Amino acid sequence: MAERCDIAIIGSGPGGYVAAIRAAQLGFKTVCIEKNSTFGGTCLNVGCIPSKTLLQGTEMLYHLQHQGKEFGLAFSDLKVDFTQLMSKKKQVVKTLVDGVAGLLKKNKVDVIEGLAEFVSPNTVKVTGKDKKTVEVEASYFIIATGSEPISLKDIPIDERQVVTSTGILSLPKVPSTLVVVGAGVIGVELASVYNRLGSKVMILEMLDHICPALDADLSRQLQKELQKQGIEFHLSSQAITAVVQPEEVILMANLGGVLKNISTNVLLVAVGRRPFTSGLQLEKAGVEKNKKGYITVDGNLRTTQPHIFAIGDVIDGVMLAHRASAEGVAVVEYLKGNRPEVDYLAIPNVIYTYPEVAVVGLSEQEAKEAGIDVMVGKSYFRGNARARCTGETEGFVKVVGDRKSGKLVGAHILGPHASELIAEAMLALQKKAKVEDLADAPQAHPTFSEAIKEAALDALGRPLHQ
Ligand SMILES: Cc1cc2nc3c(=O)[nH]c(=O)nc-3n(C[C@H](O)[C@H](O)[C@H](O)COP(=O)(O)OP(=O)(O)OC[C@H]3O[C@@H](n4cnc5c(N)ncnc54)[C@H](O)[C@@H]3O)c2cc1C
Repeated sequence: MAERCDIAIIGSGPGGYVAAIRAAQLGFKTVCIEKNSTFGGTCLNVGCIPSKTLLQGTEMLYHLQHQGKEFGLAFSDLKVDFTQLMSKKKQVVKTLVDGVAGLLKKNKVDVIEGLAEFVSPNTVKVTGKDKKTVEVEASYFIIATGSEPISLKDIPIDERQVVTSTGILSLPKVPSTLVVVGAGVIGVELASVYNRLGSKVMILEMLDHICPALDADLSRQLQKELQKQGIEFHLSSQAITAVVQPEEVILMANLGGVLKNISTNVLLVAVGRRPFTSGLQLEKAGVEKNKKGYITVDGNLRTTQPHIFAIGDVIDGVMLAHRASAEGVAVVEYLKGNRPEVDYLAIPNVIYTYPEVAVVGLSEQEAKEAGIDVMVGKSYFRGNARARCTGETEGFVKVVGDRKSGKLVGAHILGPHASELIAEAMLALQKKAKVEDLADAPQAHPTFSEAIKEAALDALGRPLHQ
């Protein structure tokens, strides 16, 4: 007999599990279906969390190596225990994954392990690893099946020598050479990890600039900073084919118009991700996808079948964990009769390189394209007292405002702790605050946050410290 519930959620990533918890809290009988043996999806298992743990460990190493002496920290034999670094990563992932299991249980979400497929618009069949099946009937469904890495036709992935972001997070040893195809967020973050660990790292990017979604100023500066750290960039370059040999991969590439064979221990293909809907049998539910393979949704995240919703990476938009979670909450609140909205403009985007990059709202170019009479203010961390104390003086804050209304339209930070600093600008943007509000906010001294105030003052034409 089929199990009956109010809401069945397919996928337990940050979209699915957060939607499940909130749905249960709102009184819906909720089922969450997950095909993997652990909860948390890409983010917790093979995405945000493992990558940030490796970035943290290697950033500590970087600071000790490059600033230790300056601060009087002398050591003669600083070693990296890669196995320990990897086990720290595993332990962090396990803690968080178990935490999600605990939260689902605490909130009385019924969890089913197995692959869900639609057999009709109101029923999914779930097949477990033991091939046993169970049917789930629901009044509403939320599809939160996420995404998967895109691979290149002539570069087959083996997740050992030719890897995606999943394989590179679990390498058995530090490769002496690493070639990364794609200078997007995932490419530059993972390149940073191995560059700091001592690999010789080269990044190939098809476009003529890195991290294409960034404000041009930040993209240029980030590339400079990463080059200073030893990463070699080849822009306007393409990977063509790869041949795997016992100890090396031979990559044939077009480096800015010149064909070359490049030998590397490991090749990381980081050319983006695509929506994952394999096995879901969407056609049996009447759920349609667009040309790019994303599930089509309306403004309420409703698919072409009115009682089926889709959230997160499986629908078009920036692939971010917090966006998926916000959409999950929005759908269940909507089903409860509330009218929540996801404020997409206020969703921050972070790159966890050193220095970090964090942005929210419109870039200067986007604001101009939108016909806004922009006012721009900048402040450099080299003029920030706290940055002087910590020795992290690279980078700047750029504030973009609308001259007419005085409102903030975007904030762009490249610098120390940018991922945390962006929260203030995000709130200002969400609450439709003015650039003047940021300029007038009293900041503790000495803090990195003073750089935001200073950039806002600069936009208003009254800088104090530059
Ligand atoms: C290396 C890397 C680093 C990243 N870093 C960040 C970061 O720092 N910050 C950030 O915001 N984002 C980051 N992301 C992106 C982030 O991980 C995703 O945007 C986020 O996980 C999307 O959440 P989701 O719930 O839509 O899907 P997912 O997290 O992909 O979860 C989907 C789940 O659905 C399950 N599933 C799929 N099909 C079925 C089925 N038929 N039946 C049952 N279960 C199914 C999958 O097994 C999976 O567990 C990173 C991604 C990668 C790869």
